Amino acid sequence: MKYDLIIKGGTLIDPAEGIHAEKDIGFADNLVAEIGDDLPEREASSVLDARGRLVTAGMIDLHVHVFPGVSHFGIEPDPTCLARGATTVVDAGSAGADTFPGFRKFVIDVSATRILAQLNISSQGMLTQEIGEFEIPEYANVDKACKMIEQHRDVILGVKVRLTRETIVSERSGMLPLERAREAADACGLPIMVHPQAAWCDSIDEILEVMYERDILTHCFHGMDCGILDERGQVRPSVHKAMARGVVFDVGHGAGSFSWRVVESALEQGIQPQTISSDLHIYNVDGPVYDLANVLTKFLYLGLSLDEAIAKVTSIPAQTLLMEKKIGTLAAGAWGDAVIFELRQGRFQLLDAHGEARSGSQSLAPVAVVKGGQLYRQDLPSASAI
Ligand SMILES: [Zn+2]
Repeated sequence: MKYDLIIKGGTLIDPAEGIHAEKDIGFADNLVAEIGDDLPEREASSVLDARGRLVTAGMIDLHVHVFPGVSHFGIEPDPTCLARGATTVVDAGSAGADTFPGFRKFVIDVSATRILAQLNISSQGMLTQEIGEFEIPEYANVDKACKMIEQHRDVILGVKVRLTRETIVSERSGMLPLERAREAADACGLPIMVHPQAAWCDSIDEILEVMYERDILTHCFHGMDCGILDERGQVRPSVHKAMARGVVFDVGHGAGSFSWRVVESALEQGIQPQTISSDLHIYNVDGPVYDLANVLTKFLYLGLSLDEAIAKVTSIPAQTLLMEKKIGTLAAGAWGDAVIFELRQGRFQLLDAHGEARSGSQSLAPVAVVKGGQLYRQDLPSASAI
């Protein structure tokens, strides 16, 4: 047999290759072997019929929390990410230098989901609700972070810092965690990912000032202090400047960090996120996030084209991670991750993180997932249909 699997007759959307057309995809040796107009079924061990459906590369979720049993945010990655089409995810700071070896051994190395990580500059990571990760400034430890990064360079791709005052950062710690994250990232040649809302500063300007090309501003459409809009609802000049120098604006929907009001205003003013991520964790997996596909559905409601939305969970995050050609595409030679979606028509209630609702007319539902050229799961229930 030439192929382990062929996905037959679906509409392939692969922005990395500029393809939006009916195509077959053949997989062999865990990789994409070939894209073609009519690949021979007799040469495949198995065939998935995707007629009338969309086929994309496996989605990449740049912001999840998948360290269950240790971080209070943690959820199991395989049922919540991989089974729902996110074949590659980045855990955004659940683990710090003191807990990362356990995250590696008990989660990353044994999950079917491909898991990469942003190391929290707080050595304890995101353990409990009762003590913020920067309750004491000493938790922001550059030496420990750099040592851990050196040991796990294959999976740690950046340094995460969360800045919310009181609940995460004590007044004593102030803006020090951001400085320390920058210091560690620079020492290791990696970018930072910043969670900016309600930091100990006057505005997001002070945060963006220390962010450069490939750094990630997550929760970019949050509705709290330190947002991207000024008092008059205009996108702040610092945001335009940061985007121009290559700072990545990432959705990171979360349980409290996605506001219809902010995202609608930003899009009207010509600001789009580069990447769409979920910030999926225990407090939003049963709504309002459910899964990454549901966040994509919200951006279809907001007027993005299918190709634009799909690019923001495939080709663009792959570029951000410096993993183009491997993930986020179905070009021959890529790592063999694919999702089959149904684009369902109907009425779908879409809630932001403040409980405000919009009503969408279509929903992207992942119905089959292929990881490394093998069928992982088929016929999933859809999230959020009403
Ligand atoms: Zn998060």
